[in-house]
Amino acid sequence: MPDSAAILEKLRKDGFRLTQTRKAVVGLFLTGASDSSGPAGPMTAPELLLALEALGVSVNKTTVYREIDFLMARKLLREVHLGDGVRRYEYLEGGHHHHLVCVECNNIECFEMTGCLKEFEAQITSERNFRFIKHSLEFFGVCGQCTVSSELGGSEVKESVESTL
Ligand SMILES: [Zn+2]
Ligand SMILES: [Zn+2]
Ligand SMILES: [Zn+2]
Repeated sequence: MPDSAAILEKLRKDGFRLTQTRKAVVGLFLTGASDSSGPAGPMTAPELLLALEALGVSVNKTTVYREIDFLMARKLLREVHLGDGVRRYEYLEGGHHHHLVCVECNNIECFEMTGCLKEFEAQITSERNFRFIKHSLEFFGVCGQCTVSSELGGSEVKESVESTL
């Protein structure tokens, strides 16, 4: 995975302006918020706006949408669909992976599985003569942090989760 400096340098060479917003947005999609270690999970435009504000970058909604469109057009971002109709975006070259969606705090983590579903695909191809292009698979549940806080806070949270599953 390239670092954001390499991506920005490429954009600069291609003649695009490196505004403060652009630098911050690329950084956020590649490395996530400053308090997280790994790459960012998929973000919505409003989430991106909040993350930018947290970095002290003042932008309006229009600029954020324009920046997302720009990065989509440069094939640096892709749209992630989690079945709720909400548009989320993440770095395109993040490699094939899946998402762990917490139904409590709505946190989304990227999750890689080695050799993911290869055997299923081979089985389906031979049984149904169906040639695969790609698959998408997302996991919904309760993240580690929410599990801990529900154990600390009694059974109330846990019960509401069970009833929705
Ligand atoms: Zn959670
Ligand atoms: Zn992802
Ligand atoms: Zn997969």
